[in-house]
Amino acid sequence: MPLTPVIGRFAPSPTGELHFGSLVAALGSALSAWSQGGTWRIRVEDIDPPREVAGSAARILADLSRFGLQADGPVLYQSTRLEAHHAAVDRLLQEGKAFHCGCTRADLPDNGVYPGTCRDGIPAGRKARTVRARVDAPPVGFVDRVHGACEQRLTEQCGDFVIRRADGLPAYQLAVVVDDAFQDVTEVVRGADLLDSTARQVHLQHLLDLPTPDYMHLPLVVDADGRKLSKQDADDPVATLSPLAALGAAMRVLGQPVPSQNDLSGFLDLACRQWDPGRVPAIANVTPSD
Ligand code: GLU
Repeated sequence: MPLTPVIGRFAPSPTGELHFGSLVAALGSALSAWSQGGTWRIRVEDIDPPREVAGSAARILADLSRFGLQADGPVLYQSTRLEAHHAAVDRLLQEGKAFHCGCTRADLPDNGVYPGTCRDGIPAGRKARTVRARVDAPPVGFVDRVHGACEQRLTEQCGDFVIRRADGLPAYQLAVVVDDAFQDVTEVVRGADLLDSTARQVHLQHLLDLPTPDYMHLPLVVDADGRKLSKQDADDPVATLSPLAALGAAMRVLGQPVPSQNDLSGFLDLACRQWDPGRVPAIANVTPSD
């Protein structure tokens, strides 16, 4: 057993139904934490009202329970944490690690990399819209349990990036870092679509003097044509299969043996005991219909 208690989390955005890709992330993060004797938390990332779908958070939580995936402890709603998010942005501004920016999306070059226009002050005639965190030239490195040593140069990937949006809401990158630290998360296990965001998050951890958790990015679920499964997919196993069959399909995506138990708690118990992070592939070599 590790010396520090392991705390993992699943952090769904309530922007639609629980789909198979999110079931894989939920299952992988839960099994990883539980298999190390750790705690598994759920955080509903409801800080983007324009994208929120009414009733989605409750349905996602109900679906997770249907799969036997219940958090240890109460669910944290990120909307209750706005003050802490804003305090973090204000601190970065005060320390000169972030700056007000007056640019719109249309002001950015085609590659989307911020050219530094407002780094030293907003040009005359423009007013502050967003707040951006400063990035610097050295690459940001982190180790991912599936993808190994990763390195990203933020100056080339995105440049100084938004941490408070033009509508005044904290950006995902900021909120996720502040709340992972608040919840004492020691490992972030989630879909590989967020691998690209990780360096920005590690950079913010450095700027805010917060610990960097371990990272593990799980394979994305693709359909038979290799496309990422979307929330709208009609043949999503979460909707079409029994909970045990859908969990079995998720286990295959995670490269794990599928327990033959035909009750949820027996299935999850064995899945947990057999969990082997070394078997999780970088790219899923099965589709949900296999
Ligand atoms: N809320 C994000 C999503 O649903 C996931 C955040 C994370 O796991 O870091 O895509």
